[in-house]
Amino acid sequence: MRALAIFRAQQDVRVIDVAEPPAPTGRQALLRVLEVGICGTDREIAAFEYGDPPDGSDYLILGHEAVAEVLETGPDVTELQVGDLVVPTVRRPCPDPGCRTCRIGRQDFCTTGAFTERGIKQAHGFLTELVLEDEQNLVTVPPQLTDVATLIEPLSIAAKAAEQAQAIQQRLPWQPDKPRTLVLGAGPIGMLGAIAMTVTRFDTVVYSREPADSPRADKVRELGASYLSTEQTPMDKINSVTGAIDVIYEAVGVPAVAFNATQALAPNGLLILTGIPALNEPATLPIDRIMKDIVLNNQVIVGTVNAGRSAFELSVQKLEQAMYLIPHSVRAIITNRVPLDAAPEILRQPHGVKDVIRIHD
Ligand code: BGC
Repeated sequence: MRALAIFRAQQDVRVIDVAEPPAPTGRQALLRVLEVGICGTDREIAAFEYGDPPDGSDYLILGHEAVAEVLETGPDVTELQVGDLVVPTVRRPCPDPGCRTCRIGRQDFCTTGAFTERGIKQAHGFLTELVLEDEQNLVTVPPQLTDVATLIEPLSIAAKAAEQAQAIQQRLPWQPDKPRTLVLGAGPIGMLGAIAMTVTRFDTVVYSREPADSPRADKVRELGASYLSTEQTPMDKINSVTGAIDVIYEAVGVPAVAFNATQALAPNGLLILTGIPALNEPATLPIDRIMKDIVLNNQVIVGTVNAGRSAFELSVQKLEQAMYLIPHSVRAIITNRVPLDAAPEILRQPHGVKDVIRIHD
């Protein structure tokens, strides 16, 4: 069968032939991959800047935003049935008996760093025809979501952020009636974050560099959020336009933008960072002003990476809500579907908001 592989030593990205997986054993399911989304992490791996192949392999099969159909189940599978539509989680636990988070299935909080991630870190991904996966790593998805189910993994990042925000803001002696949220960046993670927030009926503003009359800004307004362009509104004027911002969801991966955004944050507010920046030359930031604001305003800055099973389940729920309320906006996130042969080209050059590789119909 065919797979999209990254050969870091040879700096090569190509479709290769690999052996089909054996029949599933124990709690494994054999999956027929339908579609796989492409994100910034995949592009970094394809540019040889990130990611690692499994031990003993000279290549990594890419792909972690997958949707698949169960073809066959192992003898100990209890939850899944042949024909079910599933989305796999990404991270697998480290082997350290002392890592409490991995031992309870919360490898998204792994303390050793020895976890693996399918399609990213020391485990092959899903950009291939058939894969084996344990049922505890598979989340079932209603068939009505088939054409947008590749969005469940990137939406799980926003879902985990929502879980974290709720837990962190329990610290407040009251809860704001209708929190106002600011999304930094109108890329796929930002757009999906905005969808998660608008379907939760949060007042949502997206702040990004595209002009206010751009097609991307129209997409933001269509999903029920408002749009502010960096061209018109500098960071220090945001809350004079929008009012106080309770939660900022950062989805740009640019540290100067992320940390300067504390200027827009209300007292007691929360800044959630999701971007993983490339390591560049040190940037200049008004760190004294930032620290003073954070302390004098009881603010919190938190990072979040990966998503546990509960966040994937929440992501499925959010996507169901969004497909009921704003189906056109959700479908508009996927701007391009191409076959596996086109993947090397798509990895070099994004087309629109979200590219998806179609493996099987
Ligand atoms: C994936 C996460 C992963 C992170 C870091 C993201 O693109 O969605 O699952 O943990 O990259 O590797």
